[in-house]
Amino acid sequence: MFSKILIANRGDVALRVLRACKELNIKTVAVHSTADNDAMHVRLADESVCIGPPSSAKSYLNIPAIITAAKLVGADAIHPGVGFLSENAEFAEIVEAHNITFIGPKTEHIKCMGDKIEAKITAQKLGIPLVPGSKGDIVNYESAEKEAEQIGYPVLIKAASGGGGRGMKVALTKEELEPAFISAKNEAKAAFGDDRVYIERYLQNPRHIEVQIIGDKFGNTVHLGERECSIQRRHQKVIEEAPSPAINETTRNRIGTIASNAAAEMGYLGLGTIEFLYENGEFFFIEMNTRLQVEHPITEAITGIDLVREQIRIAAGLPLSFKQEDVKINGHAIECRINAENPITFIPSPGKIEEFHSPSGLGVRVEACVYSGYVVPPYYDSLIAKLIVHGDNRNHCISRLKQALKEIIIEPISTTIELHKDILDTKVMEEGSYDIRWLENELLDSK
Ligand code: ADP
Repeated sequence: MFSKILIANRGDVALRVLRACKELNIKTVAVHSTADNDAMHVRLADESVCIGPPSSAKSYLNIPAIITAAKLVGADAIHPGVGFLSENAEFAEIVEAHNITFIGPKTEHIKCMGDKIEAKITAQKLGIPLVPGSKGDIVNYESAEKEAEQIGYPVLIKAASGGGGRGMKVALTKEELEPAFISAKNEAKAAFGDDRVYIERYLQNPRHIEVQIIGDKFGNTVHLGERECSIQRRHQKVIEEAPSPAINETTRNRIGTIASNAAAEMGYLGLGTIEFLYENGEFFFIEMNTRLQVEHPITEAITGIDLVREQIRIAAGLPLSFKQEDVKINGHAIECRINAENPITFIPSPGKIEEFHSPSGLGVRVEACVYSGYVVPPYYDSLIAKLIVHGDNRNHCISRLKQALKEIIIEPISTTIELHKDILDTKVMEEGSYDIRWLENELLDSK
């Protein structure tokens, strides 16, 4: 097992990894920007190293500074967390070249799944059903037009290097195709430095359902059921739940087996998530994330498995501590992402938190990096806390979550707590009958 892990991240995920390390008796090293001098992950780590000014490019994305810090403290592994460098194959390669273990999958898999065009080709070879679309990148508007005719409108233009919902443009009709194609390319170039795009059928009312898989170096590969992540705004998840209210056990086993067989065939190492759109009883692959997911706690809640602990153990060369038949789904879990944003305009709301009160009770878990007196910096993602509630079944979980949302206090900055309350109060949420467009097109639109 490792003796010292450097956590190359910040916020709630840095704390999540830190806790797993402490339980495994591993020393922790926090890295941080000057904006995070007082952050909780810095306070709680055994050691900390300042790696740069507030800008992410100069700190949390600064590979030479992170490697230097790791060498300085003698870390034998780096956990990249979520976001930042977690899916950067070059970073993983550099880490390994310095004889430090990268806690994540093999570089070849990060690379292959990081390019969504290559990911789709690989997925198809592995027997995973895809959203119908172009086979490769679309080099010019003429080919875009041809492909779109073949696929049938509406279509979606997506960036090969896409992430965070950026570089994605819909064309409902042929007239909309050219502006969509140009703006997707421009947005992709600006966000990822790569303007390659591809085209997919734009599914009308799908749900986003993803499967958690995990593999060790001995060839054991297991799936841990699905997460339903259809409550989204701007293609970004807002609430996630597990299991999905839309599928039954037979379907769960079917898609879970497809996902774990694919991971086994790849020789996949560590945690991964295969994301699908689900419509009319059919699954369509959209992408694979080769890292820990923000919403991993709902899977932990219903399986009782500590995913970060397993991830670290696997990176240290140990076998998975359970088999497929040991994975039992117990009850229901829902996660609310609490962002420092205005709940109506979604304008970020950084600033000082004067009062913080965490909800508590059986089945209530809070993954937060905030405290009374903490100043939310304006430089990073606005996610400041995750509220995860587990119940015996979906109804029980919802009523417990409603109470937890009443208890939580994060003041005076604006947060999305009120939005979560509104969502929880709807009939659609009660029935679990939403799709990926419901929040934006119905609930928010009616405000
Ligand atoms: P990103 O990596 O930018 O998050 P994804 O491919 O994971 O992009 O898609 C994010 C979200 O965008 C999905 O959950 C879904 O809401 C929407 N989306 C993606 N592809 C399609 C599609 N072909 N049809 C309809 N919606 C889609």
